[in-house]
Amino acid sequence: MRILVVEDETVLADSLVDLLGRESHAVDLATDGEQADELVAGNDYDLVILDWTLPRGPSGLELLRQWRASGLSMPVLMLTARAALEDRVGGLDEGADDYLVKPFANEELLARARSLLRRRERPISALIADDVELDPRSRTVKIRGEVIELPPKELGILEYLLSRLDETVSRTELVEHVWDDSFDAMSNVVDVMVYRLRKKIDGGQKRKLLTTVKGQGYRLLSRRA
Ligand code: CA
Repeated sequence: MRILVVEDETVLADSLVDLLGRESHAVDLATDGEQADELVAGNDYDLVILDWTLPRGPSGLELLRQWRASGLSMPVLMLTARAALEDRVGGLDEGADDYLVKPFANEELLARARSLLRRRERPISALIADDVELDPRSRTVKIRGEVIELPPKELGILEYLLSRLDETVSRTELVEHVWDDSFDAMSNVVDVMVYRLRKKIDGGQKRKLLTTVKGQGYRLLSRRA
């Protein structure tokens, strides 16, 4: 999934990017409000982790207010150093989906992030396509009953395709949800990753699950065909 971290404290920001990256999410970082606003305008994030107090430009709360006013509905997890109850209520009133008070444990942040990402996805049963199964909690993949270790980007592609079962997903959409901003859109890495994933899912199988829609993208079927 594609996540934006908005945080000006370098140490915390880097550790969040690293932590979420290890869960095989594609993570972008904004260190001030203006940068955050630009990234949100240009990308379709599955989750935004938003610091309340930012040094330059709009504050976290102002950003959130603007985004919600313009109809953006992605889940937002607010980070705040202020433990005061009125802040918490204020943040939730402005459209935050959840909040965490600093300092927090990594595990706590990951748990909240998972829960918000799950809400973004379809119900848990949608993460199954025929004999392929992804447990979003443990992030393990089973193919024909066997646990398969997938590299992060292949896992990201599979997760996104599972959330859009039976729909045609363009390469651009895959890039937006699986890679971060440093991705070179001209490279053929998407095709290479899909090719590798397909070998694992469909290799040696008569009926296929991961199909190419010519000139449009890819489609993961709910049933082998
Ligand atoms: Ca801050």
